[in-house]
Amino acid sequence: MDFAQLSTERPRVSDQDPEEVLHRVFGYETFRPLQGDIIRELVNGGDALVLMPTGGGKSLCYQVPALVRAGTAIVISPLIALMQDQVAALKELGVKAAFLNSTMDFEQARDTENALMTGELDLLYCAPERLIQPRTLDLLHHASISLFAIDEAHCVSQWGHDFRSDYLELSRLAHEFPDVPRIALTATADERTRKEIAERLSLTDARHFISGFDRPNIQYRISPKTNANKQLLDFIKAEHDGDCGIVYCLSRNKVDNTAKLLSDKGYTALPYHAGLNAIDRARHQERFLREDGVIIVATIAFGMGIDKPDVRFVAHLDLPKSLEAYYQETGRAGRDGKPSTAWMVYGLQDVIKLRQMLEGSMGNDHFKRVERQKLDAMLGLCEVTSCRRQVLLRYFGDTLEQPCGNCDTCLNPPETWDGKVAVQKALSCVFRTGQRFGVTYLIDVLRGSENERILQSGHQTVSTYGIGTELSANDWKSVFRQLVANGYLRADPEGYGALQLTEQCRPLLKGEVAIQLRKDPVVKASSGRGSSGSGRRRIADQITDKPGWEALRACRKSLADEKGVPPYVIFHDATLFEILDKKPNSLSEMAEINGVGAAKLEKYGETFLAALRELDGA
Ligand code: ADP
Ligand code: ZN
Repeated sequence: MDFAQLSTERPRVSDQDPEEVLHRVFGYETFRPLQGDIIRELVNGGDALVLMPTGGGKSLCYQVPALVRAGTAIVISPLIALMQDQVAALKELGVKAAFLNSTMDFEQARDTENALMTGELDLLYCAPERLIQPRTLDLLHHASISLFAIDEAHCVSQWGHDFRSDYLELSRLAHEFPDVPRIALTATADERTRKEIAERLSLTDARHFISGFDRPNIQYRISPKTNANKQLLDFIKAEHDGDCGIVYCLSRNKVDNTAKLLSDKGYTALPYHAGLNAIDRARHQERFLREDGVIIVATIAFGMGIDKPDVRFVAHLDLPKSLEAYYQETGRAGRDGKPSTAWMVYGLQDVIKLRQMLEGSMGNDHFKRVERQKLDAMLGLCEVTSCRRQVLLRYFGDTLEQPCGNCDTCLNPPETWDGKVAVQKALSCVFRTGQRFGVTYLIDVLRGSENERILQSGHQTVSTYGIGTELSANDWKSVFRQLVANGYLRADPEGYGALQLTEQCRPLLKGEVAIQLRKDPVVKASSGRGSSGSGRRRIADQITDKPGWEALRACRKSLADEKGVPPYVIFHDATLFEILDKKPNSLSEMAEINGVGAAKLEKYGETFLAALRELDGA
């Protein structure tokens, strides 16, 4: 086929106003910080490199210019599932969007290509491997292109977890399409990756737009593990009953068990890990996206490409390996900007296990050193007694001047105590027993237990035997956990959790320096949810009219099922809530609701007005 013949010059001029597009198409009131600047830059033909946290509103940064500028915007996105969702959501808004990827057959692909050539598309999503095919590039040269958007741009970084070699080829766009503005977007924070993106994508002249990393609507909470299953159930029951959430576990086994535990308690909880067959995995992911109130229990295999906006909580039953992983995983909560919880329990065994995995792993010394530093930072966050958000943001090079008021350490400041003597006893006990024993045994020695193992090994005669009766076994556990977390003790990489002294512990052992330890807060049935006074209230807490809420949800669900899209593609929870709250009486009142644009007003306005009337009559 001769593409040149098909191509028609589109007379569309860019006389549209970005603000107007935002109101009319997306139904939103105002741009978020930076969005307006980024959009102006692109509309005026400039390049941009955008760093914004998950949920910050990156998509709008290219979707609005795509509608304002003449031609088709090409969006390069590595995740096919995400691509399909985005296109479905755009179509709902009345935007002409399509995708090109490996899931389509020849005819579908040809139809899409034709639509591109005849200028019928506002946006075309394309997988990177598809884009760099000579055939596709040739096609693009004959079409009218408004801009290139490179999503998940950190995939170009060879150091990241998500490296994709196809992304390296994308620098060709700069040379082959010098007049087409390009925007690269990522949520990955660090400076090195940012530089790499700019260099490898030939975006060295692009303006950088870096927004803060804070996710103020996420409440961070980390507690010592006592009875993980019970803690999880209590947390969900007290704070997120009926909400959609993700529970992360390290092993497949634990995923299955936890999913079963939650199911037995009446929750819709579905497992997700690499050991499930592809069909089950796809089905569980699909239900998570489409149904209300589903909890997915998963290994880290789950999450890439999930941009469900209304995930209300992310719970970790195991410690992530780094703050990057923690931030990425917890970041899947609350993309819609509504209050959400990042909840985690962790204990000494987690610390020991991760340290051992790391030391026992393949990889050269440099690699291990980097990994060790990452784990240290993660543990630092767990043990910190000041604001957790400040620690997190500082790690990513961002500063928060004041404590946030929306993390557990701000809401319930943990007490500290002078641990100098206890620490000396603990370290000395490790030394006296030959650095061959795990924490349970060490605590038994400290507390003067008369169990058989001790008697057999003759440790009732060491000088540290029975010198620690002033603390409970749990208190000692907390002491040891903090010593391991802070690198004064390490777990023997060869085996069985035996604790050994590190070089770093010497001044402590000698009693030369002071040390403050964290007093683990007493776990209450429903911990943490204090009234923070920050005015962040969960949607669920604000709903006084439960039947009304359920009726609107049902209305949304049936529309979603009819269309074969997830409910949030019809309306987000926040929009639904506003409808319930404001009870619009007419289409024009409905148009005032945030998230109701022209297309959705026309398609769903009447249906929801009818649902409201029925509620009134009921
Ligand atoms: P990101 O890709 O950065 O993770 P999204 O583009 O998915 O974030 O946006 C997150 C959510 O915020 C979406 O539900 C989106 O509709 C909403 N959003 C984005 N910009 C605005 C805005 N200006 N006003 C209201 N909601 C917005
Ligand atoms: Zn805080």
